[in-house]
Amino acid sequence: MSLVTATNLTKTYRIGDIDVPAIKGIAFAIEASSFVAFVGPSGSGKSTLLNMVGCLDHPSSGTLTVLDTDISTLDRHAAAKFRGEHIGFVFQDFNLIPVLTVFENVEYPLRMVQKWPAEKRRTQVLRMLDAVGMSDQADKRPDQISGGQKQRVAVARALVSQPKLVLADEPTANLDHDTAYRILELMKKMRDEFGTTFIFSTHDPKIMGEAEVTFTLEDGRVTTNSNGGSHV
Ligand code: ADP
Ligand code: MG
Repeated sequence: MSLVTATNLTKTYRIGDIDVPAIKGIAFAIEASSFVAFVGPSGSGKSTLLNMVGCLDHPSSGTLTVLDTDISTLDRHAAAKFRGEHIGFVFQDFNLIPVLTVFENVEYPLRMVQKWPAEKRRTQVLRMLDAVGMSDQADKRPDQISGGQKQRVAVARALVSQPKLVLADEPTANLDHDTAYRILELMKKMRDEFGTTFIFSTHDPKIMGEAEVTFTLEDGRVTTNSNGGSHV
């Protein structure tokens, strides 16, 4: 069974009287525990697409099913609940909370969204920090660690409540090539360890080979769908 399926999916933004078609009728299916990239130049629709899959925005037409739920039917409240329970996010600019330590940043979703008890939280946060190789930085604040380390923390935070799906919109855009490559390797390791499905976007063709399944987006349409091949 597919974890995410889209058919005839469209999204048109409306600015004043003007329609801006961003996604122009696309279809895809993503299997559970896969490692998937949407690749395309700036403006091709990557963020629009990931925002819809992440229930941050509604499709204009077509169907989009995530974990057996037709997400176009969810109202704002139900969408927020669905996101909190099933989806983790990794952002281009890391989005760590500057006044919290590394530990507290990773703990945050368990306190605020899922409300785990303290001891269970602590065990899970330490497990995730260990998995991303950041245990020894737990007491640092975000401005005391490098960009690559920040993204490791963000990956730990995305996975801490053990979502089925993690969405990462250009997670490596602010990292140098070697660091970008290592972050994708880390995500793949987390997929192997936890069975989490990862969908990331990138405009950098150099790193798309890291994905096992690649969809190429061009002007709101999927133009090619290829298996990454060498890294499978
Ligand atoms: P990418 O992430 O690949 O750079 P986007 O999904 O951000 O692409 O944008 C796709 C198209 O939709 C672009 O033409 C962009 O200008 C437009 N767009 C994106 N977000 C909005 C918005 N909130 N309102 C209007 N147009 C938007
Ligand atoms: Mg974008």
